[in-house]
Amino acid sequence: MKNILNKNIQNYSSKKVDWEVVQADMREKFGSDIYESWLKKIEFVDEFQNYVLISVSTRFIRDWITSRYLDQILQIIKSYKRGIERIEFTISEKTINGKDQNQNLINDVINEKKSNENIAFIKDSFLQYNRIDPNKNFNNFVIGPSNKLAFEASKKVSEDIAHYNPLYLYGGVGMGKTHLLNAIGLNLKEKNKVMFISAERFMYQFVKSIKSNEMVKFKEYFRNTDVLLIDDIQFMNGKEAMQEEFFHTFNALLDKGSQIILSADRPPNKLLRIQERIKSRFSGGLVIDIQSSDYDLRYKIIKNKNEELKLLNSNQFKISDEIQKFISSEIRTSIRELIGALNRIVSFSKIYNKVPSLSETKVILKDLLNMSENKVTIDLIQTTVCKFFKISKNEMLSSRRSRYLVRPRQTAIYLAKILTSKSLPEIGRSFANRDHTTVIHSVKTIEKLKKENSELSLNIDSLKNKILYNKDNEI
Ligand code: ADP
Ligand code: MG
Repeated sequence: MKNILNKNIQNYSSKKVDWEVVQADMREKFGSDIYESWLKKIEFVDEFQNYVLISVSTRFIRDWITSRYLDQILQIIKSYKRGIERIEFTISEKTINGKDQNQNLINDVINEKKSNENIAFIKDSFLQYNRIDPNKNFNNFVIGPSNKLAFEASKKVSEDIAHYNPLYLYGGVGMGKTHLLNAIGLNLKEKNKVMFISAERFMYQFVKSIKSNEMVKFKEYFRNTDVLLIDDIQFMNGKEAMQEEFFHTFNALLDKGSQIILSADRPPNKLLRIQERIKSRFSGGLVIDIQSSDYDLRYKIIKNKNEELKLLNSNQFKISDEIQKFISSEIRTSIRELIGALNRIVSFSKIYNKVPSLSETKVILKDLLNMSENKVTIDLIQTTVCKFFKISKNEMLSSRRSRYLVRPRQTAIYLAKILTSKSLPEIGRSFANRDHTTVIHSVKTIEKLKKENSELSLNIDSLKNKILYNKDNEI
């Protein structure tokens, strides 16, 4: 429904192509395995007269996508914007997360020209987004010390409604929150009216129904649910009036004994732009966090998933235990990424009709491995840059402003910004207590020079590779 809606909006306006919609179509077209493994991390950079610019993290991924999926991706984009004739890539080596999707969503709704959808539309779209995935259940949720409490509370809630109310689960990206919410919904949906919705979707409908004067029906619709599961509540940071309405709906549900389950990436008191009384209502039930997984849990998950995939592929590809252990020990960022890594190896195996060796695995997973390892320190950057420019570290950190020192210093600062997750002030401190404005200035200077000066740009790329992979050339 959203796709059709967006398609219409985009045909009539000069708005840029909506990447979220393209992503949804890609997932549908290629299936979630391929989507999660290769396409999800594509970032939309910009749209020009007749092409779009997208960004991926390594050349390997660019080549992989180009040779297998690019034509079809172009077709999807063309279905929204006929004038687009090609897709161009940039290699980012780093993904930029945490955009305010929430704001985009609100803007979408606000910018919409007409909004005369009736309640049938709202209902349909609720149903559309109330899809509970039968493959994410309690049986295939692997338990370890980091998620045991969250698992037990979720089970309890799905056996005994209103035991903990609300149940609030939080943890980092890809830790299994949506899986657990889904499993609860799955268990309860036979006997109860269950609504499982992301906070973004919830807000979208909320704002939409206000605009189309359907608020009463919206509220009725929600207030009829027995079990309300809202995923990623951190995205619910809307306007006062909306929060007011939400608060009432929330209270009405609790009053009538409906079970509410929420997930977020942070605890209630850390939610931004949400009224205190709502946060305190969130904390009023049971709040549980899912922590980072340990090696044993990751290995167990990989083993399970591998068995599942083996069955799906009629035992064709036997991914060695060595590789399974390698992935489990190296991909530590999230379980989503862990499973994504395994899926990549499986898609590689299918296409080349052989299971990759360990060294091939390292190439296939290169971008994930570097993000996981997080081994890039400012110290390493400084040492590598100093060596490259043949200056000493004292010179780099000194306050001398001779040209032969300024450029290397700026380069190192720039690399610290793009290769580590350190904040500007932190970077400044590592460069002999420089101010964060110096950091910004250096980053901007190098970005500008990179565009103008191809030799400098090459030097920086080669430095980047030295730091990241300890070698001179990208694959
Ligand atoms: P979140 O919502 O916390 O970002 P998800 O629930 O979407 O994370 O989990 C990411 C992926 O990892 C999903 O495919 C999910 O099924 C899987 N997953 C997460 N935790 C587990 C687990 N303990 N056992 C099995 N699969 C898991
Ligand atoms: Mg989730």
